[in-house]
Amino acid sequence: MARGKRPKWMIEIAQERMDILFNRAEKEYDEHPERSHRYVELARNISKKYNTAIPDAWKRRYCKNCYKFLVPGRNCTVRLINENINIFCDECGHVTRIPYIKEKKLKRRAKIDSCTFKKRDYE
Ligand SMILES: [Zn+2]
Repeated sequence: MARGKRPKWMIEIAQERMDILFNRAEKEYDEHPERSHRYVELARNISKKYNTAIPDAWKRRYCKNCYKFLVPGRNCTVRLINENINIFCDECGHVTRIPYIKEKKLKRRAKIDSCTFKKRDYE
């Protein structure tokens, strides 16, 4: 298949298939964790083949180092450290850090807005 950007309908199908795989990984984790890890592998193959990112809802649910499916409280620990979301993978010990600056920026903006509104009230 040619490289590069895929048509929209193809990306939509790829996203749907990845969503199904991750949903199944979540369901099967209790009884067959090895199947969950395999589903992540399959989803990653789809992601690579169709040049499409893993859906936002799932992209934090696997380890970026060993690519195993992560279930908070089971095989990974999620902690907030130094303005980062730290995801500790218990399978390989890898730590994924995700800054949440976007959320902080929104908060700061909301604060500034409320201040200017207050100022206007006084004038
Ligand atoms: Zn890992």
